[in-house]
Amino acid sequence: MAPTIAVLAVQGAFIEHERRLQALGCEAFELRQAADLARPFDGLVLPGGESTVQAKLLRAVGLFDPLRERIAAGLPTLGTCAGLILLAERVEGAGDTQGLSADAAARRATVEGFRTLPVTVSRNAYGRQLGSFRGEGLLASAASEGPDETAARIPLTFIRAPRIEGLGTGTEPLVTLDGRPVAVRHGNQIGAAFHPELDADDTLYRLFLERA
Ligand code: GLN
Repeated sequence: MAPTIAVLAVQGAFIEHERRLQALGCEAFELRQAADLARPFDGLVLPGGESTVQAKLLRAVGLFDPLRERIAAGLPTLGTCAGLILLAERVEGAGDTQGLSADAAARRATVEGFRTLPVTVSRNAYGRQLGSFRGEGLLASAASEGPDETAARIPLTFIRAPRIEGLGTGTEPLVTLDGRPVAVRHGNQIGAAFHPELDADDTLYRLFLERA
């Protein structure tokens, strides 16, 4: 049966994910408030947007604790960009702090996310001029498998993206760009620094839906 996927819709780029999931044959619905959790679902998508805002709104609408519990218990979850930041165990880097006091800069660096994915990310780490860029990633599994490299290349779109600085125990790279991981997996959680909803390639969705 087609999986039902809940897409967090408190802020950010959730509609694009819904469309892509529907095109792949999934049922997709929006999670906006705690009451939406009454509907059963097989997987969760955390979209891009502004992670600090999303973390605050998640608490304000009562979604934070129940979602954290389900993710920690193994709910298949795909976090993209801000969604990766929400999942990350460690978040570094304040991003654009020009003109801010040291205190304000420190506050901006802190994102009170779920901290369920053993990975360290730094926010907005690709710098201002490189705020948005495109690249071509290499699928980690395919990279070791063999000569047909074309099948292993996937297009990547980055928008003020977090950089993955380090992987904790049990976290494996899924996609790399210039040798550095840009998507990772830990158990049923996948975190990606890029925006798969903006490119035609379905690889990341398929990797997520394998578990959902
Ligand atoms: N820069 C955003 C943040 O720090 C993430 C950007 C995105 O999701 N496209 O939360």
